Amino acid sequence: MHAEIVSIGEELLSSDSDTLDTNSVYITKQLGAIGVRVLYKTTVGDDEKRIIEVLKLALSRTQIVVTTGGLGPTVDDMTRQGVAETTGRPLQFHQELLDDIAAKFARFGARMSDNNRIQAMLPEGAITINNPTGTAPGFIVEHQKRIILSLPGVPREMKAMMEQTVIPYLRQKVGTPAVIKTRVIRLAGIGESLIDEQIGHLEKLTNPTVGLNAHTGQVDVRITARTATEEEAAALIQKVEEEVRAKLGAYIYGVDREPLEAAFNRALKDAGMRIALIEIGTQGMLSRRLESQPEALAQIDVLDEALVAQFRLEIDPQADSRATAERLVSLALSHTRHVAAVVLIAGENSMAVCVSVNGETRSRGYGYGTSTTAPDMIAGWGLSILWWMLTHKGMGKL
Ligand code: AMP
Ligand code: MG
Repeated sequence: MHAEIVSIGEELLSSDSDTLDTNSVYITKQLGAIGVRVLYKTTVGDDEKRIIEVLKLALSRTQIVVTTGGLGPTVDDMTRQGVAETTGRPLQFHQELLDDIAAKFARFGARMSDNNRIQAMLPEGAITINNPTGTAPGFIVEHQKRIILSLPGVPREMKAMMEQTVIPYLRQKVGTPAVIKTRVIRLAGIGESLIDEQIGHLEKLTNPTVGLNAHTGQVDVRITARTATEEEAAALIQKVEEEVRAKLGAYIYGVDREPLEAAFNRALKDAGMRIALIEIGTQGMLSRRLESQPEALAQIDVLDEALVAQFRLEIDPQADSRATAERLVSLALSHTRHVAAVVLIAGENSMAVCVSVNGETRSRGYGYGTSTTAPDMIAGWGLSILWWMLTHKGMGKL
């Protein structure tokens, strides 16, 4: 079954608010775990007309609509009215709900005001969702083979209600718990658009689905299957994975959570190689990534700026990054056999990678937009080029 999440609240749209829509992220995960796929997420302000518009559209395209927010007692909380209007089920007062709300106020030692009465009103025929940590109950409306589930916006209340009521309820509706299985194939040395050229046809599949996630210097191909059993899911994934491997095998460095750092480290070890790394102007971003892999230290000599000075490799702050990287590598080659330089010269808004492995030297320069992301970017490109140079020849398709 498919779902749409409708996040309701002016604070989610306002330019001077910092409220992030974390509820829809949580709900997506919970639904995914019982085999319900979220096809749409919509955010709408506290406006009855627009809420109705959005709910009508949601009901026209998915079987399950989950709303969060707008269930409070104040006039700006419009979800209740919106659902009632959309489904043509007038709001009805429930004395037992009001008694329950009053009891909660009494327990908190607070005075219940008249406007809390609205929280005891539900669309006709709705099923109550008990709210164990707050006052406003949520509700479920089953309407023309569709289901609307309305939950409060406060994350703590919404989560408790999802766990205690919504998930058990939907699990029954959905039937046998479906399996959702994901496999991530990780590639480096090739850009997203070239991958897309090779496997674009797979990205149109509906089961399994295939999607790309690009990071700097690295791309994930995410294959997700939804089936009744673990075995069926594995078989669907395997078929697609084989095709991805046939088309792009040379660029695959790992699967699932394996980082490129680990693949690079393994490649160094397999080649029985030590490499010197010179990193200038990047706040040591690349060495830090490599050092996160403990074994890598045995095979990588990090030459910091002080050591570079000892080598008498002066850096001209006005020089072009690529020319500097090439010069550093050629000078370092008189001391060591394999060397990589990653250089970022802020004044020039340029950064570059130069790698020399087994006597083959390649370099590449990049411009960049903002200086805050540049170190991370050049470290990503650098690592990707390093891995590729070590495991293949040339620069790859970066
Ligand atoms: P409401 O139920 O609309 O009165 O929302 C109460 C509070 O919950 C808001 O003031 C927000 O801080 C928070 N909230 C509402 N919607 C969301 C959401 N989609 N994600 C995270 N927090 C939310
Ligand atoms: Mg609100």
